[in-house]
Amino acid sequence: MSNPAFAAPSAYAYPLLLKQLLHTPLATAADQEIVYRDRCRYTYRDFRQRLGRLASALAARGVVPGQTVAVMDWDSHRYLEAFFAVPMMGAVLQTVNVRLAPEQILYTLNHARADLLLVNGEFLPLLAAIRDQLETVRGFILIADDPAALPAGFAGEYEALLAAARDDYDFPDFDENTRATTFYTTGTTGLPKGVYFSHRQLVLHTLATAAALGTAPDSGRLDRGDVYMPITPMFHVHAWGIPYVATLLGIKQVYPGRYEPDTLLRLIAAEQVSFSHCVPTILQMLLTSPAGQSADLAGWKVVIGGAALPKGLAAAALERGIDVFAGYGMSETCPILTLARAGSAGDAAAQVEARVKTGQPIPLVELRTVDEDLRDLPRDGRTAGEVLVRAPWLTQGYLDNPEAGAALWAGGYLHTGDIGSLDAGGTLQITDRLKDVIKTGGEWISSLELESLISQHPAVAEVAVIGLRDAKWGERPLALVVLKSGSSADAGAIRQVVQAAAEAGRISRYAVPERVDFVAALARTSVGKLNKKAMREAAGGG
Ligand code: AMP
Repeated sequence: MSNPAFAAPSAYAYPLLLKQLLHTPLATAADQEIVYRDRCRYTYRDFRQRLGRLASALAARGVVPGQTVAVMDWDSHRYLEAFFAVPMMGAVLQTVNVRLAPEQILYTLNHARADLLLVNGEFLPLLAAIRDQLETVRGFILIADDPAALPAGFAGEYEALLAAARDDYDFPDFDENTRATTFYTTGTTGLPKGVYFSHRQLVLHTLATAAALGTAPDSGRLDRGDVYMPITPMFHVHAWGIPYVATLLGIKQVYPGRYEPDTLLRLIAAEQVSFSHCVPTILQMLLTSPAGQSADLAGWKVVIGGAALPKGLAAAALERGIDVFAGYGMSETCPILTLARAGSAGDAAAQVEARVKTGQPIPLVELRTVDEDLRDLPRDGRTAGEVLVRAPWLTQGYLDNPEAGAALWAGGYLHTGDIGSLDAGGTLQITDRLKDVIKTGGEWISSLELESLISQHPAVAEVAVIGLRDAKWGERPLALVVLKSGSSADAGAIRQVVQAAAEAGRISRYAVPERVDFVAALARTSVGKLNKKAMREAAGGG
């Protein structure tokens, strides 16, 4: 028998499109500000007008629905405009990772079949190196903070094009499953892989993230009174999607351009920034930079993701009054899957414990941990296996790479490639990447746990632990340690931290590294994450 509910006609189906996120802020917070460094400041009302102008200008340059508009810029109000206007036209926004090598940038633009490129003048030398090998790009628009000469073959300069364009572009309705954005993962192996997200996915990710952050306990909450500034690049998973959340909530937004510690700290103070997100390295850099050591950062809420939040860093941030907590996700997952939830009660050690947890699933996220046969593992907070996930906003595959997409979705769940455990309360703890876990003496040792332990030694600025091949044990851990300037420690002191944890039964005795190397810096990927593949190769034991 047919279900009569299915047949009910709908007067207006209300597709979940990015343009719908604008109704509430424009109705209730039209005078709220959007700021770009000390260069530009305007209201949400102006923002909406500029979206119309940008779309008109792009349409005049031949952009039609289904085409791809690529952007190479630092974090800016212009990027936020592209976040909305390009998808709202029915076109696809490609956010280009400007830190990739030129040949990889070339690969991603050709692979995504980008039609038009908006490029910050700072990247013109890079563009010059690849321009004659671009296969599909047929137009360029220059982005410049200051008046600049237009390079040959460019259709115009961003501000001039907007100034000359009409603001009454009529953003149409269309299928909510239309692709809105695409960008490329930045793994350490193989060619970059394209992930993609639809309007429906971005809207649902925005709503779920707003719900999770807005219902956080008395720490880590995002609300209308906050001032938001990203410190995760907008090219990387839409700056974790928080610009969409901030816009929906009508929050003041501050865009810092290229990340320079002094500029970031100055903006935090001058604009009273209260909510940001970044990878651990950036927070570490801000806290220890000359200006950062004396900056008043009390009350600043910071989500740390992209890598585990080490306990040492969490403790240092809490001491400065920073409301720091972990979040978890990946390029393939739009990205947010979990957020650590901590109240403000408990002593310092308890606060650190709560805040470094990988976190609880945000609304609509289903998490599993499984063994090699995809059987669910007990939710006992100890048993670790691969983390699988379903949520409405996960990439449905990789662009033009069905084999990799099928592997990603084997068994109907997205495979994160991360190892973790779930507890009875639904809290996830990631213990490693599948490919970074250290297998020694028949046991799996969590490199993240070792790093978190060693990070608590007072002389340690940064640490990475990798597995090196070993004839007897399979693999043995090697700790690479960067010391704080002016501090000293020897290998024995580092080893002692792990030894003590092993003796207390908190970590396997196989985890104690024989080898501790002191290094000046740790190898990193283009987005600032530890590049353990490069470290293993450099240490000769990959
Ligand atoms: P990416 O796709 O470059 O954003 O990288 C995603 C990967 O970063 C995940 O699969 C994890 O391995 C790692 N990651 C992100 N957030 C966390 C976290 N809170 N704890 C541990 N690992 C994380």
